[in-house]
Formats: sequence, structure tokens, C-alpha cells
Amino acid sequence: MRDGICPKCGHASVHSGRDIPVKASSGNTIPIDFQHHVALDNFVCVSCGYVESYISDKASLERIEKQWPDASKTKRKR
Ligand SMILES: [Zn+2]
Repeated sequence: MRDGICPKCGHASVHSGRDIPVKASSGNTIPIDFQHHVALDNFVCVSCGYVESYISDKASLERIEKQWPDASKTKRKR
């Protein structure tokens, strides 16, 4: 996706919101814990509408690594 090619439809029509300045209050963020949020870089395919989001802040990735359980170890009841 970040190479500009959409993984869903294969079109080279991916646009990045990475450099769009947004106010912190209106930006796209996810919560890490009660005190911390991290901003997401959004990549949008303008051909099919598919969206992918990435975290570019290394400190936040390290925080998630320490605080969030591994997905492979998380048991989900079905
Ligand atoms: Zn697409």
C-alpha cells in the first residue's frame, strides 16, 4: 500500500494523508492506554476507497509492544 499500489484493486491510485497538517484534536488517532493516543498516517485508494492506517511514531510503537498483548496469545471466545 505504501508503495502507491492498492492491494485490493491493484490500481496505482493510492494517496497519503501523511503530510496533511491536522489539528491534534481532529486528527485520526487510536488510544494506546488511558493517557496516550497516537496519530495514524492514512493511505487511501481513490479508485476503490480502501484505507490503510500506519503508526509512524516509534515511541508509541514501543509503548504498544510493552502494553498490548500479542495477538497470537490473545484468546478469543467464539
Ligand atoms: Zn483500490
